[in-house]
Amino acid sequence: MEAPTLLIVDLALGEEAKDLITLLVGNAFYAHIKVMVLCDTEEECESCLQRIVRPLSQRTVEPLMGIYREFQQRHPGGRTERDDISYQALFTQVPLGIAVSKLIKRGNSQSHVIHQINPMFEKILGRTKQEIMHLGIGGYTNAQDWEREQLLLKRLENRTITHYSLDKRCLRGDGKEIWVQTLVFPLRFHKEDEFHYFGIIRDITEEKKLALKASEEVNQVLQEKLRGMGYRSHLDDELTVFHLTNGSYDLTGYTADELTAGQGFDYNKLLEPSSHRKVIDRLQEQIRIGKHARLEYEIITKSGEHKWVFELGRLTEDDPPILEGIILDFSHYKELEQSRIYENERIPLTGLLNRSALKRQMEEDKQNPEIQESALISINFTPLYESVSRLNHSYVEDLLVQIGSILAQFKSETAWVYGPIDYSFAIYLSSYPSRSGLEALGTQIIGLVGNLLSSEHVGWGVGIIEIDWSEEPEIDELLHQVIQASDLASKTHSGRPAIRFYERVISELIHRESSILRELSSIVEAVDDDRLYLNYQPVVSVQTNEIVGFEALARLMSNELGLVGPSEFISIAEKYRLIIPLGYQILTKALRFQKRLEERGCADYWVSINLSAFQLLEPGFANVVQSLMAEEGTNPEAIVFEHTESGAYSSLTAVNSVLKTLQGFGSRIALDDFGVGYSSLARESELNVDYVKIDKLFSDQIIKLGADRSVLGDVIKMIHKVDRITIVEGVEEERQLDYLKQNGCILYQGFLYSKPVSEEAALRLCT
Ligand code: C2E
Ligand code: MG
Ligand code: MG
Repeated sequence: MEAPTLLIVDLALGEEAKDLITLLVGNAFYAHIKVMVLCDTEEECESCLQRIVRPLSQRTVEPLMGIYREFQQRHPGGRTERDDISYQALFTQVPLGIAVSKLIKRGNSQSHVIHQINPMFEKILGRTKQEIMHLGIGGYTNAQDWEREQLLLKRLENRTITHYSLDKRCLRGDGKEIWVQTLVFPLRFHKEDEFHYFGIIRDITEEKKLALKASEEVNQVLQEKLRGMGYRSHLDDELTVFHLTNGSYDLTGYTADELTAGQGFDYNKLLEPSSHRKVIDRLQEQIRIGKHARLEYEIITKSGEHKWVFELGRLTEDDPPILEGIILDFSHYKELEQSRIYENERIPLTGLLNRSALKRQMEEDKQNPEIQESALISINFTPLYESVSRLNHSYVEDLLVQIGSILAQFKSETAWVYGPIDYSFAIYLSSYPSRSGLEALGTQIIGLVGNLLSSEHVGWGVGIIEIDWSEEPEIDELLHQVIQASDLASKTHSGRPAIRFYERVISELIHRESSILRELSSIVEAVDDDRLYLNYQPVVSVQTNEIVGFEALARLMSNELGLVGPSEFISIAEKYRLIIPLGYQILTKALRFQKRLEERGCADYWVSINLSAFQLLEPGFANVVQSLMAEEGTNPEAIVFEHTESGAYSSLTAVNSVLKTLQGFGSRIALDDFGVGYSSLARESELNVDYVKIDKLFSDQIIKLGADRSVLGDVIKMIHKVDRITIVEGVEEERQLDYLKQNGCILYQGFLYSKPVSEEAALRLCT
């Protein structure tokens, strides 16, 4: 007998096996012997050229197949004895069951005949060679599995597949059912019309048991913990479900049979109708991209209950593939999620919805083709916040809670109430009847909230924006715009709350604001820009009609907009924090003007300079003023600083101490615009001021109401009682001046004497 040419060595034999491999591979004498190594992992025998890794897989059987093909190619005319021996060696030594079979066709009938079996095959099946040959594959294979296998064999014969692998059940000689994994390849010999095939089997009963146990456990979890069912669907347009497990009844109220009978009432009919198409399309898309489906959606059960389910599926390797997976009852998690959203979307103070809830609602409506026109109302209380230090924090909070509960009554199916969000409340209406309806709603709000706030002197207002979703507006932009509108509504001249619709007018206003902002920014960056300049208005003695000083009033000559007044650009500068650098530029110009007055021999004329609250509260402000005065050679006693109480002061004492410092330099302080806004005599008497400038409002009264009914005289007396000098603003007519004379007013300012004039004109007024 010739020496074998193929040797299969099992590494499990230990050191001896390794020694044998080394001997065979490393020695030219044995070069004609092919060595195949059986191992448990690839790493175990990295250096081996030919190896079979347990458990057997298609990939590891390839080399084995290679050897067969080699045999066949080398000896096309039939096998030699030597081949037979190698073949025999392989057959007997490999620890896998091997059988070679042939398809015999007689007329229309055909049968599969096994013609070679190795000992391992006998061992696995627990039957003798004769028994096996007699039974045939169909005889020992489970009937159902044999049906599947026959289909696969057909394809193998037709060459539509090159091999197949199948887990099947076989009946052993002792009556036990076992699971084997079979890998089958065709064998083509000289007779082209004959179909031989070669099957390898491996006992996988233990593995199957384990897997089955695992899947039972999974089933148990499915049944006990997660209510759900398994499913299989065709990959048709509707992803028609053709198989469901028993969980169907609990989940849907229908039995699995009811939903898969193919009578047109299948599982997909339970999908919530409005999202039905979306769900199917989404699943289709997912499996097209990643062969996996994962989706949450809503179904309606037999009893009409809405349930959220979670579907998790994957494409199988079947041909054609199907989608199989599980559908779980997700309602509980959805409820949890929704309650989390509930908590995340509320404002603890008022229990009303917050900004993200507002944005979410608006975003939903924007996407919803059925909603075309909505409205957003903003009720802005910024000044209430600004007065927190004046009022007391918990008092303000209490007010907000009360406002919240007043507004909450406007809630409905299509209207939601939000706030406070950044100093304002909001009401969002998914749909609204008409513009006049909105206006009526605004008036109602003003009436109700106005009652509550009647004793608080805070400005507030209602802004409304009508939304046309077909224009695809940006949500953030809308929020911004409605705030703008309510901001404007809260700053009426009358001081009473108003309603403002956000419209083009406002958008133009905003355009104007950004244009002014641009110019101010460039002015701030330049050292000396003549677009920013000062006009001067004389302050005159009531008794002698002689000038005592000049008020410096800022002007902006905008390239784009022409002359812009300070009431407009100063507030923009304040809003965008440009007032500090801008204020220093103004201050410097005013100090230089004072110097020019002095040079003209008018050293005793003072120059008054308006200061914004932001300037006064800027750390180190007084120091900068002092050094600027030193730099310019200014006599501090010739300077009056004007400031308006804005209520925005976080601390009255802080302002007061800055005023005191300025007074310490020798300068004087005037309280501007007395009688409007926040000024009150009680507080004014505590302030470090020398002059009180009484607002034009009072001089207007003399004209409007007549001298008899004007309260200006009383105001002047009160101010004198607290030892401050009175200056009345806005004197335009002789009869106003007469009134001032009669009521002991000391100084005045107004168009009657002179409008604010240019620096040169002001110098000419000085004699
Ligand atoms: P204000 O300090 O109360 O200035 C008086 C305002 O009344 C000036 O308006 C002045 O032109 C106007 N006025 C004076 N007499 C009459 C009159 O007889 N009739 C009428 N109808 N108006 C009269 P202007 O210049 O528009 O300034 C408005 C406000 O802008 C000022 O009110 C002041 O609060 C602020 N402002 C002006 N310049 C500056 C500045 O340099 N810095 C700061 N922070 N604010 C400034
Ligand atoms: Mg002033
Ligand atoms: Mg004033």
